[in-house]
Amino acid sequence: MKIGVLALQGAFIEHIKMLRRLGVDAVEVRLPHQLDQLDGLIIPGGESTTIGKLATAYGLIAPLRRFAQSTPTWGTCAGMIFLAKDIGIDEQPILGAMDITVDRNAFGRQIDSFETDLEIAGLAGAPFHAVFIRAPVVTAVEPEVDVLARLDDGRIVAVRQGRLLATAFHPELTDDLRLHSVFCDIVKETLA
Ligand code: GLN
Repeated sequence: MKIGVLALQGAFIEHIKMLRRLGVDAVEVRLPHQLDQLDGLIIPGGESTTIGKLATAYGLIAPLRRFAQSTPTWGTCAGMIFLAKDIGIDEQPILGAMDITVDRNAFGRQIDSFETDLEIAGLAGAPFHAVFIRAPVVTAVEPEVDVLARLDDGRIVAVRQGRLLATAFHPELTDDLRLHSVFCDIVKETLA
């Protein structure tokens, strides 16, 4: 099993380290042909406008769209924005792979970063300590999307649609491997 991490910008090294701690063969991805050898892909947090611009420059938009249609893909924070179908901004390149509407800087400037403990559907044990950094939220989901976690105020911050996973926070910035493990299980299921 080989999982790639889109390494154009943002927190890709941290995801690679988490995957390697789980014993997974993890590689940095920058070029379209590298997608061919992968069983799954993580799109990290960072700055979605920059990731979009670089993905356009490297000819990655169409290959990434095709990839996400058939292969497990997980977007964290900016990666969630990049996976969404609708972000309310026409000019910004996105993949449009998940049937979710995302509000990019949903928390504004005052609380642009915070940490909180989340109950996540399907995760056993203690709540997940989630780190939000200029985070987006999901403002609408289509019926095929499962909501996995909400903030106390009801806003949606983790979703799954079949092989696609999206989280508004940064699991790679904690020590908790449970979400990476969930994603590896999705990859294993599709290989079985
Ligand atoms: N606000 C950023 C964006 O719009 C996302 C921040 C993050 O990935 N930590 O892309």
